[in-house]
Parts: sequence; structure tokens; C-alpha cells
Amino acid sequence: MDNLIITDLSKTYNNGVKALQNVSLQIPVGMFGLLGPNGAGKSTLMRTIATLQEADSGSIQLGNLNILENKNELKKVLGYLPQQFGVYPALSAEMLLNHLAVLKGIINRKERKEMIHALLYKVNLYEVRKQKLGEFSGGMKQRFGIAQALLNNPKLLIVDEPTAGLDPVERNRFYNLLSEVGEHTIVILSTHIVDDVKELCPRMAIINKGKVIIQGNPSQIIESL
Ligand code: ADP
Ligand code: ADP
Repeated sequence: MDNLIITDLSKTYNNGVKALQNVSLQIPVGMFGLLGPNGAGKSTLMRTIATLQEADSGSIQLGNLNILENKNELKKVLGYLPQQFGVYPALSAEMLLNHLAVLKGIINRKERKEMIHALLYKVNLYEVRKQKLGEFSGGMKQRFGIAQALLNNPKLLIVDEPTAGLDPVERNRFYNLLSEVGEHTIVILSTHIVDDVKELCPRMAIINKGKVIIQGNPSQIIESL
């Protein structure tokens, strides 16, 4: 399966902040923890991988695909759950997924419905599929975010600080779901919570002040700190 290879990625904002400095990472299929304090450059890195913002230099390769030069190809294989994602509060989970599936070009109504119901089962929101998104709890919204991302059948799923504000039960539910996705997908989990990475991710990197401090296996890395 395809690896994600990030090479010498750099980004300096207009205000002079060096958010990324020669970041190089090798990320295989599975859960990959990106650990770092606030301001480390995690969101900048995630947004750059998702091609939502430009780097100054460097390259990102997903298998044979040069991401930064093929944004449209990337969009076909990317799932991205930003830190705060907007939902249309008046729509039900099912309606919004349906609209998104139409936009994706899945025109067969029966096919769409089956696909959406399967997704809602997977994220454990089937029972509340007709409820308005505005009434969802934080954890429900995050799981909905995963359903939305999975609509794309992604090879690469990026989740930015996904459990902020979730209670422990919702957090576990969310992480169980993410681990399932990680069985056959590259999942990059950005967080500042060490234990989350230790529990969930076979591979990780620590980033601080825009630089990769270390990358590898969490138990070795965290013991060596
Ligand atoms: P993290 O996600 O790890 O908290 P960010 O990538 O958001 O880190 O930010 C890295 C650094 O870049 C921080 O110092 C932040 O203030 C700065 N930064 C982030 N976005 C911008 C921006 N649009 N313009 C200027 N500076 C930014
Ligand atoms: P995070 O928790 O990911 O670090 P921030 O609170 O740093 O998020 O940033 C929130 C938003 O503000 C982001 O879109 C980021 O690009 C932007 N931002 C962050 N720092 C700056 C900055 N110093 N100047 C301009 N925009 C910034």
C-alpha cells in the first residue's frame, strides 16, 4: 500500500513565523500520531497536506501521486476533519450526507441511500440519522465528521485535534472508530495529548517550533524523553 512521504516541507508566514522548517516524515498505512504543543505547526502541516494552503518549498508524495502538484487527484482520496468543522445545523445527518453524495456524483438514489446508511451504521449514528445536526453533541458531531470524510473512501484521513471538548466515553468511541479506519487507511492524528498517541498509534512524530524533533515508535520515543 501507498506511503505518505513528506520531504523538506517549509512554510514561513507573512509575519515571519517559521511554522514549518524542513519537515520530513514517512507515514505508512495505520494511525500516525502528530504530537506537539500549541503553535508547533501541526495545523499548518495538516492544511498543507490537505492542499488547503501552500508551502514555500518541499514535496509531498502519496504513493505515485505528487500531492502539491495534483490537488484535484488528492481530493479524490483525501478525508479531512478540521479542528472545527461547520455543519448545517438545520439539516439531519442523513440529509447532509445525501447532499454531499449528490455533489460527489453518486446519482443513483438507491445506491446513495445504501451507502449513507452503511456509513451511519459504521459511525454509530444510524439511530439518530433523522435528527438535526444542530442538536448533536460534540462526540456525535465528530463521528459525523468521520462519516462525511469516509464518503470519499479516502486513502488518507487527516484529523486535527479531534477530541477537544469530548467526554471520556465519547472520546473512546471516536478513537475506536478511528482505529478501525486506520486498519486500511493512512490516518494522521494531530494532538497534544501524549497518552492518546501512545494508546492508538504504532508510529508517531513530535513536532515543535516547526521542526520534527523525532519520529518512530511511541513506546520507544516516549520512554526516551
Ligand atoms: P499548531 O496547530 O501546532 O497549534 P499552527 O500550525 O496553528 O500550530 O501554528 C504554527 C505557528 O504559526 C504559530 O506560531 C501560529 O501562531 C502561526 N500561524 C498559524 N497560522 C498563521 C497565519 N495564518 N498567519 C500567521 N501565523 C500563523
Ligand atoms: P491551532 O489551535 O490549530 O494552533 P490557532 O488558534 O493557532 O489554531 O489558529 C486558528 C486560526 O488562526 C488558523 O486558521 C490559523 O491559521 C490562524 N492564525 C493562527 N495564528 C495566527 C497569526 N499569528 N496570525 C494570523 N493568523 C493566525
